[in-house]
Amino acid sequence: MENLNRKMTPTESLQLQRATTGADIAAGEKVCPVCSRETRDEYVPLIVLEEDLRQLINANAPDTREFQAVCERCVRLFERAKEQIIKDAAMQKDGSHVLSTPLRLDSDERFTGKDVTIAFLDSGFYPHVDLTTPDNRIIGYRNLLDENGDLSSLFQPDAASWHGMMTSVVAAGNGGLSNGFYRGIAPDANVVLVKLARTGRITERNIQDGLEWVLENQAKYSIKIVNISAGGDFEQSYLNDPLSQTVEKCVARGLTIVCAVGNAGHLPNHPVFPPASAPSAIAVGGLDDQNSINRTRRGMYRSSYGPTLDGFQKPEIIAPSIWVPAPILPNTPTAQQASLLEKLDKAEDDQLHSIVRENPGVESELDAALDRPAYMLRQIIALKLSQESFITKHYKYVDGTSFSAPIVSSVIAQMLEANSKLTPQQIKRILISTAERLPGYEVDRQGWGVIDPRQAVEKALLFT
Ligand SMILES: [Zn+2]
Repeated sequence: MENLNRKMTPTESLQLQRATTGADIAAGEKVCPVCSRETRDEYVPLIVLEEDLRQLINANAPDTREFQAVCERCVRLFERAKEQIIKDAAMQKDGSHVLSTPLRLDSDERFTGKDVTIAFLDSGFYPHVDLTTPDNRIIGYRNLLDENGDLSSLFQPDAASWHGMMTSVVAAGNGGLSNGFYRGIAPDANVVLVKLARTGRITERNIQDGLEWVLENQAKYSIKIVNISAGGDFEQSYLNDPLSQTVEKCVARGLTIVCAVGNAGHLPNHPVFPPASAPSAIAVGGLDDQNSINRTRRGMYRSSYGPTLDGFQKPEIIAPSIWVPAPILPNTPTAQQASLLEKLDKAEDDQLHSIVRENPGVESELDAALDRPAYMLRQIIALKLSQESFITKHYKYVDGTSFSAPIVSSVIAQMLEANSKLTPQQIKRILISTAERLPGYEVDRQGWGVIDPRQAVEKALLFT
């Protein structure tokens, strides 16, 4: 049975699993119908689980397959998810989109990045409460455009602030605005935020200045990891590119440099630019896991890929780059819109019109539909919630390798918490050796495959 399974395409093996019954499992079927992991765990019959837990597992199971039992790990995962959903009234009721990053990647929750510092180089930031409460973990902020020590730009919710707020919270947010549910994999890590530009536009020179600032301040903040969800504009050989050489210098000084590989994989030219193309950087491509823990649903995102001008395999690994939960920037029109839509979504039909009337100018399509019946307002509300990818009034789904890179940075923070002696080279080797190849996709696109946080941390612990 197992050999047969290996040779099948994902669709065929899915069909095979569709027929899996409790009897098959008892007879030695070793693939869980929900997560598709081969497991030696005991299987748990659904019939013994509580009704709401059973519903939640079904809502997150692939397609409409019939199954009677799931692995113990899935039961544990969804029990945790259920607790969070009960605690957080803001969560969507139908259970369809409940998955957080740690849940989807099955990260090892013994490690939270405690006492490890990640520096983020980005267009701008915001002190989001998921980073600042209950303890402020923003231990350093530098705006390279202003005088040293000037914090004013950190508190301005402008367009440039969005990107870095999202990357830093994806990695190190503690999910404070969702009772801990939409947390990153390193919710106790410290962060240092380096603002590189006045707008979203970042140049190669900006990134290099940022890295040089990190080198000068590495000891002051104990910076171990640098996350760069930005790239240059041209392919360059590292041999004569100043930014690539700065990356190499950083790695030689003990910094692990994590770079987003870019989002141009759907185009004929999809090269990887510096800094991701530097040999010692860890370049991260995109996984599309369809917001599911089922491994047979995994596919590639349209991330850029090499080989580079120097012939290096880039990306080295991939991580979720779509359906990534990220915070909404407070005090913006988007935040107002999300808040109104959530309120309407929960309201009774006979309240919809008055709520829209009390909030003019927030959602113009609703303002214009005030003379329509409630069911039509409902349709607009549902459409807007999905168009804007709102999850709750505080979080939305985002995509791009800008968000895969911080997921990898957060796993590295766990690894360094587990074993602070690891060098950047050892970290890269562990990530590569524990990654899992996606069947059916070229090696050039995915490198060594999907990051496996649990195994990476396990190997970090054993490394001496
Ligand atoms: Zn399972």
